[in-house]
Amino acid sequence: DSELPLVARRIRSFPDFPVPGVLFRDISPVLKDPDSFRASISLLANHLKKAHGGRIDYIAGKWSVRVPPGPRTLPGAARVCHEGAVSGVLYPGQDGFGGLLGDPPDAPTVLGVVTVDPLPHPDFAAELGLGCILIRKRGKLPGPTVCASYALEYGKAELEIQRDALEPGQKVVVVDDLLATGGTMRAACELLGQLQAHVLECVSLVELTSLKGREKLGAVPFFSLLQYE
Ligand code: 5GP
Repeated sequence: DSELPLVARRIRSFPDFPVPGVLFRDISPVLKDPDSFRASISLLANHLKKAHGGRIDYIAGKWSVRVPPGPRTLPGAARVCHEGAVSGVLYPGQDGFGGLLGDPPDAPTVLGVVTVDPLPHPDFAAELGLGCILIRKRGKLPGPTVCASYALEYGKAELEIQRDALEPGQKVVVVDDLLATGGTMRAACELLGQLQAHVLECVSLVELTSLKGREKLGAVPFFSLLQYE
């Protein structure tokens, strides 16, 4: 596929990050380059359209902001900045996160989007004409929630979803930036299982094949755009 190299050439590798022995695959340059970012979204969305057609009810993913990167102008000085997360739209003259959390400037020209969570899942959902269900770290979501804890390649974490996010039997696809040991994706599937949703497939931009994460997903199909050992 001619779009795949646009994504592949923007993935960087960092040895011994965040701990010795881990080779970290950095997808930040994919998000920074609008062509690469668009290609990653369209490739994953095309796969989902082919595999499931109109069967998907929702896309589920760990939270992130929804405005695509790249220079743009938002009328009315719109600012995307979510409570409890250091993320938002970067305006001219702003420098780093401090500026992000201040008041929006008069000029509504937007330079780009800064986000804590790397993959804008709502963009996949929008590309497919679907809604997006948010899965977040524990303690971030209001109202009744269900929770699943899991081990990361390095460390431990807990994920949460709102109890009324889905009706039993609704069909979802889970999206993440990268599959390593599969613990995160499995925890997401567990959460969706607790809501009696049906996970049609899990997808990610990158898969670290030597960690055999897809085996953790059991019978749930898994698809990745790029594979590394
Ligand atoms: P897993 O639970 O599959 O071991 O780890 C996957 C999760 O950890 C993903 O949500 C991903 O964001 C993060 N992660 C683990 N290793 C890497 C890596 O090498 N690169 C990036 N970008 N994220 C990673």
